[in-house]
Amino acid sequence: MTPDIASTTHHQILNQRLDILHGVGPRMLPKLQKLGLETIEDAFYHLPVRYEDRRQLKKINQLNDNQQEVFVATVLASGESTTTRSRRRIYEVIVGDESGKISLKWFRYRKPWLQKRFPVGQQAIFIGEVKRFAANREIHHPDAELISSGQSIEQLLTSDPLNFGRILPVYALTDGLTQKQARKIWYRLIDEYAASALTFIPPEVQQKYCLLSNAEALNQVHWPDNRVDLMTLEKGQDQARQSLVFDEFFFLELGLALKRAGVQLEEGVAFKFAHKFTIPLNKMLPFKLTDAQRRVLGEIKRDMMAPEPMHRLLQGDVGSGKTLVALMSALIAIENNAQVAVVAPTEILAEQHYHTFKHWFDKLGLTTCLLQGNMPVAAKRELLNQIANGAVDLVVGTHAVLQEGVEFHFLGLGVVDEQHRFGVRQRSLLKHKGANPDMLVMTATPIPRTLSMTLYGDLSVSVIDQLPPGRKPVTTELFRASQRHQAYQRIHHELEQGRQAYVVYPLVEESEKSDLQAACVAAETLAEEVFPDFKIGLLHGQMKTAEKEQVMNQFRQGEIQLLVATTVIEVGVDVPNATVMMIEHADCFGLSQLHQLRGRVGRGADKSYCLLIPSEHYSEDARRRLRVMVETEDGFRVAEADLEIRGPGDFLGTRQAGLPDLRVANLLKDVRILERARQEAFDYVNKTNQLTTPEAEPVKQELIRRWGGRLELAAIG
Ligand code: ADP
Ligand code: MG
Repeated sequence: MTPDIASTTHHQILNQRLDILHGVGPRMLPKLQKLGLETIEDAFYHLPVRYEDRRQLKKINQLNDNQQEVFVATVLASGESTTTRSRRRIYEVIVGDESGKISLKWFRYRKPWLQKRFPVGQQAIFIGEVKRFAANREIHHPDAELISSGQSIEQLLTSDPLNFGRILPVYALTDGLTQKQARKIWYRLIDEYAASALTFIPPEVQQKYCLLSNAEALNQVHWPDNRVDLMTLEKGQDQARQSLVFDEFFFLELGLALKRAGVQLEEGVAFKFAHKFTIPLNKMLPFKLTDAQRRVLGEIKRDMMAPEPMHRLLQGDVGSGKTLVALMSALIAIENNAQVAVVAPTEILAEQHYHTFKHWFDKLGLTTCLLQGNMPVAAKRELLNQIANGAVDLVVGTHAVLQEGVEFHFLGLGVVDEQHRFGVRQRSLLKHKGANPDMLVMTATPIPRTLSMTLYGDLSVSVIDQLPPGRKPVTTELFRASQRHQAYQRIHHELEQGRQAYVVYPLVEESEKSDLQAACVAAETLAEEVFPDFKIGLLHGQMKTAEKEQVMNQFRQGEIQLLVATTVIEVGVDVPNATVMMIEHADCFGLSQLHQLRGRVGRGADKSYCLLIPSEHYSEDARRRLRVMVETEDGFRVAEADLEIRGPGDFLGTRQAGLPDLRVANLLKDVRILERARQEAFDYVNKTNQLTTPEAEPVKQELIRRWGGRLELAAIG
């Protein structure tokens, strides 16, 4: 076969529906679909969840506790009895071999069936998990293969090679699909089709890392060779799985490398240094930049001076001073007569940024404006004019900035705050408001470095890993719902010292109305009964922009001492005098959301508190989240724990990040392979001049196949 024909059949076969498999008919197909499996390729990558060692039969005294074991034994006694304590009926079969005895128990059973199946003297192969209760060992609801008299064990083993005499895969199942059926299906699948799964990783890379071909790896991972070490297999460190992981990462990174190359191919603006505004700002600032801010600014400056457009992710924990870095970067663009757009996920945050920028811009003689979604038409038209003719230096706003009709005279820099709230599409919309403007995307959701490298592989990453000096740690305390008054006491104490506080309520979308009501009622109760001597404000997403603005202003200026809010305050709000935050129904929040919320306090020089009040009953996952919050304040550790609890797919949503789903690889466990695959993929893109050489053609086709439409790129056209 010429490579072309081979790869065509490869594509076709992988896309075949599963019912081309013998034994998968109209009854079986829906069951497989329930597992998310539609095609041959889907089934290839539905890997065993674990393995069962049935290479040899053990003696009863060799069986390990808490493991699936397989052994041959003879029935010594069989009958029903009643447990002493719970007085439940059970069926018990005692079996033995020359080495010992073990008890088999059924708690749900049909007595006549068991009696008939296991008469004294019956020989069988038993399969099940061994449990130890004090000195006794038991297996509950074991599987069994009866050995008829006259049949030898060897005969039985060889007559059913799919279920005995080897290491067996154990698959995730669904209703109506048994392990035995699954094994049959995957045996046929691999036997008949694995060979059509071609390998596209360049041969020299395959050799360098001793990678198996995809066909061989699929074979081994589903039906491991008997020589394989079971521990290695269980840990997913076998060569077969690792080869599949490499393959998956290689194509992921290949796509990212191409994207990155595409970015570098574009022509952008090379800014020059004038220091016209940056030096005066530096002199006016009431504090010195932190070392981390300075280093990050250096990286941004270098990018902005280069002729290629900047695509940089600025990552820094809440309160690390990203806004100031954005401000300085904005000034560099403006010194070059370019405009800047700053996009934030919420109105509140947009306003907040507007205040910050305006404060300094007024002093520097520069103009800034806030573009809101629901402005009066005339005012908006006027604003759009000023933006289009270049009268405004910097525009702040929400999605409103990305809308059609917003045109810039010369957009030089786009800043996206809290990147995790936006998808790639928004980033690209902003980019197209100018001729390849520099892009700075900021996030306070600290993503472990390896993950950000993958998820944002087409971005360079800068990290602010230091907080401004003088910050006091925030003490986080977990209360029970019944201990709420203790939390109130803490708040009272702080308010008396002239400080301010937040009380936060979750807003779960489905029941938004009732949640909102809860927040409103709580605000009233707090005002009338708990803190009658203080001024209390209410802030929620359903309020009009002007109302929100007014409440926020009053809070900023200290006219309101206690702010009852829904999560609208989650990101970016900056009131240093607020030292206490109480979070109601804290179990309803995600970990990074809690961390973001907590970041609203501890912004000044005073000791701050975060008080978590969970609902009366909450899940084990919620308990883990709350424990992490109490234990650490370090955003990176919070993010790592979040990743562990939720799993990477959910963590940032690979879909939203515009990446193909990972089927085999695990971003946490397979980090070393990821790094190698990344290196090789980037080298390969370089070496093949962005996959344009003839030998790279099949690789490119495979890449397009795997990334689907997500590779929107001129470079691959
Ligand atoms: P975030 O990274 O969460 O966006 P901000 O930019 O809102 O953080 O900064 C948090 C607070 O720290 C602001 O009040 C800001 O004025 C202040 N800040 C920023 N940089 C410094 C610094 N180098 N020294 C002292 N305070 C700073
Ligand atoms: Mg911020």
